[in-house]
This record gives sequence, C-alpha cells and structure tokens, in this order.
Amino acid sequence: MLRNPALRSPLHGGTLAGYRGDTGLDIAADRKPVFAVAPGTLDYSERGHTLWTSGKDTPNSVRLALDTPIAWKGHKITHVYYTHMSALTHQMHEGTEPRVVIKAGDALGVSGVGNGMPHLHIGFLLDGKVEQDSWDGILTESDVRVLFGGYRNGEKLP
Ligand SMILES: [Zn+2]
Repeated sequence: MLRNPALRSPLHGGTLAGYRGDTGLDIAADRKPVFAVAPGTLDYSERGHTLWTSGKDTPNSVRLALDTPIAWKGHKITHVYYTHMSALTHQMHEGTEPRVVIKAGDALGVSGVGNGMPHLHIGFLLDGKVEQDSWDGILTESDVRVLFGGYRNGEKLP
C-alpha cells in the first residue's frame, strides 16, 4: 500500500527518479512487475503509444480508464498511462470491445527501458484528456509524488 491508501503501488521496490518537467513520474527498476494502482478498464495494452522506441527501448504502453475518477485540484484524474514496458499481461488494441477489466493491484506487465534507462513511466491524465498534448491535462512528476502520499525522489515505493 502506498502512503495514499486509496492507491496500490505500481512497482514494489522501485526507486522514485523523477525530474522536473516530466509528464509523469519515472520509477527506476530493472524489469520488475507492474501493477494497476486502481480498478478500471483498459483503453489499450499494446506496442506503441510512446516516442521512445530506439536502441534498447521497450516501447509497450498501457492506458487504464479508472472506474472511479480521483479528485485533483478541481479536476478529476480519469486515466493512468504506463509506458517503457518490456512485457504486457494483456494484448489489447485500442478500440477493442469488450475491454479488459482490471482490479486494483492486478499485474499489467513488466517494466523495461525508456531513453536507454531501465524505468517505468507512469502518468495521470485529467478530465479525459488522454492525448497528453497540453500541460493542463497532466499531473507533473511532483504532482504524482504528492498523489502517492508525499514521496521524495530517491525513496523506494513499497
Ligand atoms: Zn518519464
């Protein structure tokens, strides 16, 4: 359990390695299991949906639509985006019906490499703005650390 008891840990033992200006939080880990932070349904779980595709990068991504949006500063967190994954529990193309149903803590896959570094990127998207094309629809990396319950970079997740 994270310090925020409403969310499950996305990566047990991962080291928080965020940097200012990221569109989410980087969690350093070497090919470790990745979990759903909350219940929802998959928008997709497939190769792609990332710009980091060169060299050792493992370009698999998952987007989870939350069953219950999370209140955030007058907005609602509606989706969670995971990328740089090396393996996926489910193979589901965007637009597929029926959608895969996910419970809190369900395995989503295995972390991998992005921009040459072993880590998971996790992003939280507001108000259904899933294209991540503007800053008002995304939690910044420090926002994600606050959401998780007040972690500092360098700390490990439970
Ligand atoms: Zn990142």
